[in-house]
Amino acid sequence: MSLAYLSYRPSRWLVGVSALLALPVAIADERVQVVTSFSILADMVENVGGEHVEVTSLVAADGDAHVYSPSPGDARSLANADLVVFNGLLFEGWMERLISASDYSGALVTATDGVEPLSFAEHEDHDEHGHEEHGHDQHAHEEQDHEEHGHDDHADHDHGNEDPHAWQDMQQAEVYVANIRDGLIAADADNADAYRANAEQYLQEMAEVDAEIRALIDEIPASTSVITGHDSFGYFSSAYGVNFLSPVGLSTEADPSGASMAALVDVIAQENVQALFHENMTNQSIINQLAEETGLPIAGTLYADALTAEGEASTYLGMMRHNARVLHDALAEPGYIKPGHDDHERDHDDHDHDHDHDHSEHNH
Ligand SMILES: [Zn+2]
Repeated sequence: MSLAYLSYRPSRWLVGVSALLALPVAIADERVQVVTSFSILADMVENVGGEHVEVTSLVAADGDAHVYSPSPGDARSLANADLVVFNGLLFEGWMERLISASDYSGALVTATDGVEPLSFAEHEDHDEHGHEEHGHDQHAHEEQDHEEHGHDDHADHDHGNEDPHAWQDMQQAEVYVANIRDGLIAADADNADAYRANAEQYLQEMAEVDAEIRALIDEIPASTSVITGHDSFGYFSSAYGVNFLSPVGLSTEADPSGASMAALVDVIAQENVQALFHENMTNQSIINQLAEETGLPIAGTLYADALTAEGEASTYLGMMRHNARVLHDALAEPGYIKPGHDDHERDHDDHDHDHDHDHSEHNH
């Protein structure tokens, strides 16, 4: 046995081990162990994976994924996982820290990979991130790559410049489902046909719910504004209508200052704000306080970043249906005909989105 062989052998062994770790682990008679960061993704994975998957959601129903603190049990869940699915776009920053802490080296699905992100600036105009406050005018925002606005501009918030709540637009959520399907196929090729068939069925149901939502929201006058707990409905607004304002920004980590509450009360006086809504996973006291200060009604609860444990909003499709119906019941005006009602193209809204962001850094 030559010396050359001996020195070669360990590196060959290492190559063999890393190839084995990268191999999708799916023993034929065992379900694929999938860990998701939050409940909406868990429901999507269960729909696409069906009987072939066992899903663990780190943030449970009604939980707030923005401010979650992972437990040692979460690290153990990751250690046993065959596939990990998370949202990305800095929705759950703790997830990436948890993954590196847990030595998980298996497959990762970033559900928003391929989504066209809305930038934070596009719907921050009415909260405390107002441009004037930071010395930026709108022109400057349009001229510069949003990525260059570092966290210094928003030092008190742990969010990016792109809105992560893309599941609130069901057509963007189709991207989530395709990514989940492809991740499951890569992890468990033996059941690829089942994953494809389940995903196709689920996408059809999503298209039906998307049409239901459009029909409901189309009966709400276009100028209508509402207020929710945090800035989580930008994609919903862009896709379906209704202007959403919130006392805090994208992140639930922020407590609204007295100044920003006062500014919001001013905005409420200027805009056609019709109602306030609670969110299931955020503190309701802010909305209650606004209701007291403005006399506006609290018209129900919307499901923003989490499913409920039971009831209609315990599934993603049910949650979306629920939100559209609650908004419709509070805000629709019988006989209202939406301008350009025949046009159900994607870009029927008033925003001029910049879809040219390079978000490849979010890929894993
Ligand atoms: Zn959120």
